[in-house]
Amino acid sequence: MDQEVKEKYMKAGKIAGEARDYAAEIAKPGKKILDIVEAVESLIKAKGAEIAFPINISINDIAAHDTADKNDERVLGENDIVKIDIGTHIDGYIGDTARTVAWSEDYQELIKSTKQALEEAIKLCTPGTNLGEISSVIEKTIKEAGFKPIANLTGHGLDKFNLHAEPTIPNVSFKTSYTLQEGQAIAIEPFATTNEGAGLIKESVEKKIFMMLYDKPVRNQHARQILRIAKTRNGLPFPLRWVPSSGIGLRIGLKELLDKNILYDYPILKEIKGAPVAQSEHSIIVADKPIITTKTEKF
Ligand code: MN
Ligand code: MN
Repeated sequence: MDQEVKEKYMKAGKIAGEARDYAAEIAKPGKKILDIVEAVESLIKAKGAEIAFPINISINDIAAHDTADKNDERVLGENDIVKIDIGTHIDGYIGDTARTVAWSEDYQELIKSTKQALEEAIKLCTPGTNLGEISSVIEKTIKEAGFKPIANLTGHGLDKFNLHAEPTIPNVSFKTSYTLQEGQAIAIEPFATTNEGAGLIKESVEKKIFMMLYDKPVRNQHARQILRIAKTRNGLPFPLRWVPSSGIGLRIGLKELLDKNILYDYPILKEIKGAPVAQSEHSIIVADKPIITTKTEKF
């Protein structure tokens, strides 16, 4: 990896890590999700990075892809288990990281299992490691702690302006001939649920995060407003919250863009049996001593 590219991954990762820890610190029962999301997105910009994707705050059985809406009144509850997933970039080089917070004792072991799985997996992020070994250690660590890995959520490669590059890194064991290369940027993200859960997520109909696929002309003024935001993103995701218009007009504009395949939508992902989900994620550069770009003293 180019030294300049490496420095950009390092800077993006450092800011993502700090933003993640800040979000975890201000997340408290009674706090509005919208306030957390806005504070953290401002912090990322103030520290000199760009937002790679809207801050995801996904609660209880929601595993991923939830964020605040513009007039979101939801507040965190004291029995919630809250996944905070943050993405930053410098010139397209991404830091992607997540941690889970909960105030109830009931969830601490579940959360810990994903952190342990992540740490065991990172030890294997050295050149020549078969990808299947990483998936196996994630599954084994979570199961030994008494929980279930989520089988259809995965880690992934990172590339310039590409959040989900090759390879896909499953959280359950699988067979592959794929081996890690020196200097490769990847994100590893073990997800786990309790034994009441199925260990699988499904897509729900609700969508709050979008990404531009193609540019085509549109006439509807709300569609044009959405497209204006979409075009600033270089193919990275954005939330509807960033679009100035709202209400029924926005919904109509959005429908036109989805119908014309101009936008892709990220459905909110829920555990299929409604069981609580925890997640831990770091971004890593593969090396003899793996470099964790999003690591801080706190996580
Ligand atoms: Mn993430
Ligand atoms: Mn990720």
